[in-house]
Amino acid sequence: MKLIIMGAPGSGKGTQSEFIVNDYKLVHISTGDILRSNMKAGTELGKQAKSYIDAGQLVPDDVIIGLIKDRLSQDDCKAGYLLDGFPRTVEQADALSAITEIDAAINLVTDNEKLKTRFTDRRVCPECGLSTSVKTCTSNVCPKCGKNLIIRDDDREEVVTKRLQTYESQTKPLVDYYKAKGLLKNVDGMQSVENVAASVREVINQL
Ligand code: AMP
Repeated sequence: MKLIIMGAPGSGKGTQSEFIVNDYKLVHISTGDILRSNMKAGTELGKQAKSYIDAGQLVPDDVIIGLIKDRLSQDDCKAGYLLDGFPRTVEQADALSAITEIDAAINLVTDNEKLKTRFTDRRVCPECGLSTSVKTCTSNVCPKCGKNLIIRDDDREEVVTKRLQTYESQTKPLVDYYKAKGLLKNVDGMQSVENVAASVREVINQL
């Protein structure tokens, strides 16, 4: 199975992706995670990506498309995967269509004004990448690996505003793109985490 999970920044893509890949034994491919681990390791890609990420802008299409082509050609992807944070532009979606046919694009539908508190509440682990919220994880320590949790640099208010604008202008058109292909599956992303997960499972089980 080849799936895409889409939605605005803060819509819960990362959290739902964890459930999906565990339940359906898919490889989780998050372009945001790949870029952040490259930034942490100080690679050329990481250095190139940092200025865009810190400004709430998208990393150029040619860079991301090259990265995805390489990742999808690896052996572990043969059993199926979930794309999280890719594609984010029509050009990226066209490049993906040229590589493979996907089974569905799950779109988490959210009220983006109400989402803003999710960024101030979000905490991530700099070591293992776990993402959580101060609402569910009251200690400042990663429940998975024990490192201290931090706030993502791009979760600062001015960057969040820009990320939401970038989403509206460059990524939201993909909703119509996948609708036209008959692949769009909308899920109400404003429900509780558990109810979103249940709705997502219902969608996948019907594929
Ligand atoms: P995310 O963790 O998915 O919110 O991604 C964090 C940041 O990484 C985004 O705000 C972009 O700057 C960059 N990024 C992640 N995925 C992509 C993509 N498919 N195309 C361009 N930039 C991306």
